[in-house]
Amino acid sequence: NIQPVYVGRFAPSPTGPLHAGSLVAALASWLDARAWNQGRGGRWLVRIEDIDTPRCMPGAADTILHQLATCGLQPDAPPLRQSSRSAAYQQALDQLAAQGLAYPCACSRKDIAEIHAAQGQSRERHALMPYPGTCRQGLHGRTARAWRFNTQDAPTVTWNDRRLGPQQQNVAQSVGDFVLRRADGLWAYQLAVVVDDGAQGITHIVRGEDLADNTPRQMLLQQALGLPTPHYLHTPLVCAANGEKLSKQHGAPALDLRSPLQALSAAAQVLQLPKVTSEQATLSDALALWIRAWTHLYNQPL
Ligand code: GLU
Repeated sequence: NIQPVYVGRFAPSPTGPLHAGSLVAALASWLDARAWNQGRGGRWLVRIEDIDTPRCMPGAADTILHQLATCGLQPDAPPLRQSSRSAAYQQALDQLAAQGLAYPCACSRKDIAEIHAAQGQSRERHALMPYPGTCRQGLHGRTARAWRFNTQDAPTVTWNDRRLGPQQQNVAQSVGDFVLRRADGLWAYQLAVVVDDGAQGITHIVRGEDLADNTPRQMLLQQALGLPTPHYLHTPLVCAANGEKLSKQHGAPALDLRSPLQALSAAAQVLQLPKVTSEQATLSDALALWIRAWTHLYNQPL
């Protein structure tokens, strides 16, 4: 008789402080954990995804943790940092390689562009084309650069997103053999996120909709590594005035946390949660209101 459990997480990359868009994902994943099991609540973890070291900003992880605390979003355990997890990623890569599901690749971007050009693909189309699988059959004396996941025999992935509804993707056709370890030696997001979600026993993933099309790749990796597949909910994105997704790369301003309630209210509005009407409402009143509202808006699978 298995007790249903809930372990959720917020997994920011410390490339800068939280902005209005990342707060939506943070609040949503926190609410989902706290609302679970008629408000009895599950566990909520924070994981610092600091593997893409050239893009990390010194001090950003601490800033993010401080911003979350200011908003009343406290994790149930000290945060895990991906920079401490290389051994686990290497072990997963070894396991995939032993199964024939990961292979070294010698192709540079230029090599891949040339193959696409030889297939008659224009420059514009090339960026959207899947990797042609050149190195699946071996390196033929060339030097290994990256490691890729072999999607050749992968079935079409289908899943039911709690907000977006039924989804499907054929990874081989739309993405191709994706990278697990980059040519510069850094671990790819896809591998790290799957290994850590598995190791931390994550049962429910709540994150921004911009990551929805990564989910099928992550599901293939979960299956290949013998890990369970969590439930997924992808939250709406916050757009900048120009209509583009708000992101650190495009210079989104850091959150103004002089009034955390105001910042959270904006995030809550994106999630279609009720407005806090009382002038006297405190941060914890607002969070309690949204926990109650959450279950009615987003049903929670066991
Ligand atoms: N670290 C990723 C990001 O900040 C999110 C990873 C995830 O939630 O799966 O975009």
